Amino acid sequence: MQIAQRMNLLGTETAFEVLAEVNKLKASGKDIISFAIGEPDFDTPSNIIDAGIKALKGGYTHYGPSAGLLPIRESIARYVSNSRGIKVDPEEVIVTPGAKPIIFFGILSCINEGDEVIYPNPGFPIYESVINFIGAKPVPLPLLEEKDFRFDVEMLKEKITKRTRMIIINSPQNPTGGVLTEDDLKIIADLAIENDLWVFSDEIYCNMVYDGKFKSISSLPGMKERTILLDGFSKTYAMTGWRLGFGVTNTELATHIARLETNSVSCTSTFTQMAGVEALEGLQDESKAMIKEFKARRYLIVEELNKIDGITCKNPGGAFYVFPNVTEACKKLNLKNSKEFQQYLLYKADVAVLAGTCFGRKNEEEDQEYVRLSYAASRENIREGVRRIKEAVEK
Ligand code: PLP
Repeated sequence: MQIAQRMNLLGTETAFEVLAEVNKLKASGKDIISFAIGEPDFDTPSNIIDAGIKALKGGYTHYGPSAGLLPIRESIARYVSNSRGIKVDPEEVIVTPGAKPIIFFGILSCINEGDEVIYPNPGFPIYESVINFIGAKPVPLPLLEEKDFRFDVEMLKEKITKRTRMIIINSPQNPTGGVLTEDDLKIIADLAIENDLWVFSDEIYCNMVYDGKFKSISSLPGMKERTILLDGFSKTYAMTGWRLGFGVTNTELATHIARLETNSVSCTSTFTQMAGVEALEGLQDESKAMIKEFKARRYLIVEELNKIDGITCKNPGGAFYVFPNVTEACKKLNLKNSKEFQQYLLYKADVAVLAGTCFGRKNEEEDQEYVRLSYAASRENIREGVRRIKEAVEK
């Protein structure tokens, strides 16, 4: 039977394939320590679970409006207003099943075939996949290790052409943990205004900034109306399986995104949305404790990785990822690239990591190899996992 040609354009998250391999090995009895997973290893805070159950018992089992129930749109508007220092109205909020649909719906609503979209590389693979899928041109913006995985301003300027319509940013970043500075944001904002561009700001890790305060590009003058802000509950509240996220943008675009939601998933499950209200309005203790623990683990994993001969690791500013340089380790072990290193660690050290190339092709003239480790793992597992890596690399 025929499969539409456009499906050839759609990419995927190869991380899921590695996870399937890891799970198979675990099921066969292998004791694998996994640094591959992109979600908190904590359970959803109990007050949120209780609110979800209460909502189910209270009749939140029906369809709701596509853009989201009013109570959660109001809560999100308050939360974004306070955390970003901008005035957000509930009509500017669209609630989605997870934050991911905002990437798909946002790009689909703003970008025509043949337009160019600048996106971070390495980066969350869904950006490039969706840009390709709709027939636009993905233009990778290299994130550089020597700049703590931020971009080079001149490079960004060179990437902007007459066809550019959008710049995607993600800070704190997946997979590098890099955080853009306020100056970086100002430069992007100036360029966006000068060239009349959308900025898609993926702020899903905004509550995981460890060495300063989070700043959103939407709070810079003239930026709110041209920003599509993505945030959600998956990371901050350990709610990945609930599927709850949101976008904030101007009301005109919000209406289009809601229409895409009507045409695809109808709405986000309503009891989940009521649990989301509790997440934003209720006790923050468990979420705060989790984030504090991530910060402690970051120190631990960076310190331990840097003790390995052949690996160097920057101290990232946010999220729960490190992106060590493993070029020397690959050379020592006669491995061609980070993918082979990933497989070597999986089968020789019983440790799962993700190759840097799971997050996009190598940038032009790039000759370094990286892997991503998520430190959503206990301190005990971090110590033991990194010990295994050390043994396998220094053998
Ligand atoms: N954006 C980035 C950068 C992410 O890393 C993720 C999840 O891993 C998402 C968006 C999607 O989040 P959600 O699970 O809420 O759809």
